[in-house]
Amino acid sequence: MESQKRHARVFSFEFFPPKSEEARSAFHAALEQLAPLDPRFFSVTFGAGGSTRERTLETVREIAGHGKAAAPHLSCIGATRDSIRDILATYKALGVRHIVALRGDLPSGMVDPGDFRYASELVRFIRAETGDHFHIEVAAYPEVHPQATSAEDDIRHFQEKIDAGANSAITQYFYNADAYYWFVDTCEARGLTVPIVPGIMPITNHRQLLRFSEACGAEVPRWIRRRLEDFGEDGESIRSFGLDVTTALCAELLAAGAPGLHFYTLNKAAPSSVIWERLGL
Ligand code: FAD
Repeated sequence: MESQKRHARVFSFEFFPPKSEEARSAFHAALEQLAPLDPRFFSVTFGAGGSTRERTLETVREIAGHGKAAAPHLSCIGATRDSIRDILATYKALGVRHIVALRGDLPSGMVDPGDFRYASELVRFIRAETGDHFHIEVAAYPEVHPQATSAEDDIRHFQEKIDAGANSAITQYFYNADAYYWFVDTCEARGLTVPIVPGIMPITNHRQLLRFSEACGAEVPRWIRRRLEDFGEDGESIRSFGLDVTTALCAELLAAGAPGLHFYTLNKAAPSSVIWERLGL
C-alpha cells in the first residue's frame, strides 16, 4: 500500500443517467444533497453499446450546470472510432476534463464488437486524439474480472491500460479488503503506482446486492449474506446493518492508505452521505 499512501485523497460519486421524469427528480435531489460535500467529481455511467449516449451527455450537462466537475464514463465495445471521436469533441467543448474509459459489455443481440476490443485500445485512442486534455480513469478488479483467463493475466491487462496512458483507476466494489490490498501490492511490485481508488457499494437492498454481485463478479462474504438472510423483508434492519458494514470497510481502507473512495450511489444520496458523515470526511 506504500505507493497509494503518497497520493492525495480523491472522493467521487457515481450516478446513472435517469430514464423517466420520476427518476430525473430522484437524480436531482441526490445531486443537490451530495454537491455540498464537494467531491472531486461526479461520474455518469454510459449504457452498453452507447444506449445512453444522449442521456449521459444530458446528465453531464446538468452536473456542470451545478458548477460541479463531471466525469462521463465512456465504453468502447460496439463503437466506431468516429463515434468516439465525436463524443470526445462534445465533452471537450463542454469543458469536461475527466473521463472513465471502459470496454463495457456487448448488449445481448449485438454481435459486432466495433473498432475496439479492450479498454486499453480506447485509452490509447483518447490519448492519440486529445493529448493530455483528459484525466483518464480506468476500471480495476481486486477480485478479478469475471472474464479474465487468470488473476495474473487480469493484472497484466490492467497494466496495459496504464501503459496506454490512464492516470488512475477506480475498482469494482468489494467487501474483502484483503483483495484490494493484494491487488494494489501486486501492482506496486510491477512498478504500477497510479492511484487505485476503491469503489464502494453501500449495502441497502439484499436481493439487488446479490443480483449485481453475481453479474459483476464481486463476492458478498458468507457472513454478510447470512446476516442479510436473517433480516428477511426487514428493510430498516438491512439498511442499518449495511451502513455499519460499509462504513467499517471505508474506515479500514482509508486507515490503510487508500487514496480516496468512489461511491456507487445508484442515484440515492442517503447511504453515501451517511457514510461520509460517519467517516468525518
Ligand atoms: P478491459 O479492461 O478491456 O477488460 C475486460 C476483460 O478483458 C478482462 O477480463 C481483461 O482481463 C481482458 N483483457 C483486457 N485486455 C486484453 C487483451 N489484450 N487480451 C485478452 N484479454 C484482455 N460498464 C458499462 O457498460 N458502463 C459503465 O458506465 C460502466 N462503468 C464502470 C465503472 C467502474 C469503476 C467499473 C469497475 C466498471 C464499470 N462498468 C461499466 C463495467 C465494465 O464495463 C465491465 O466490467 C466490462 O466487462 C469490462 O470493462 P473494462 O473497461 O474493465 O475492460
